[in-house]
Amino acid sequence: MNIILFGPPGAGKGTQAKYLVEKLNGYQISTGDILRDEIKNDTDIGKKILNNMNEGKFVSDEIVNNLLKNHVFDPNKKQKLIFDGYPRSLSQAKNLDILLNSSNQKIDYIFFLNVNKETIVERIKRRKVLEKRTDDDLDTILKRYDTYLETTRPVLDYYSKNSNFHEIDGTMEIDQITSKIETFLNV
Ligand code: AMP
Repeated sequence: MNIILFGPPGAGKGTQAKYLVEKLNGYQISTGDILRDEIKNDTDIGKKILNNMNEGKFVSDEIVNNLLKNHVFDPNKKQKLIFDGYPRSLSQAKNLDILLNSSNQKIDYIFFLNVNKETIVERIKRRKVLEKRTDDDLDTILKRYDTYLETTRPVLDYYSKNSNFHEIDGTMEIDQITSKIETFLNV
């Protein structure tokens, strides 16, 4: 099955995605990780996106959509995709529908991990100490949260009427969120 984990930065999408990869034998499609790899490997794309990423701004749809395509069309990953950090805008959501349609796939579950701003700031401050991400300083966190409200949150209207959409309280403990997800998935 294909799953979207949706929510603000710091909602716990990556944590739950890693769990689902193990449980379902799936593939985590974290556009953030894919983009960070481009920077780490110092590719042409990596050089182009470095500033945007560090400033907490979106990378262009063209770049992200292109990188995503390889994963969606990978036959090994078919119907085993766990999206974490994509889609992040209405145009990305529509692009994903097109890619999935053209590869005879669909989204089976969308989980919205809903978390308030205060919790996000606290979590990302802790993550900065652990992971040393350059986009996890306070100014950038706040900018990323504003971008989420402006550009990403409207995607909820696109999905929330679907019967496969489920909102989960993302302020709960990690294993409580996991067990909510498991209940919906019936695994
Ligand atoms: P994340 O690891 O999901 O928090 O993403 C880290 C950063 O990568 C974001 O702040 C953006 O700069 C970039 N990024 C990740 N996913 C996307 C996306 N779907 N569209 C545009 N930029 C993205």
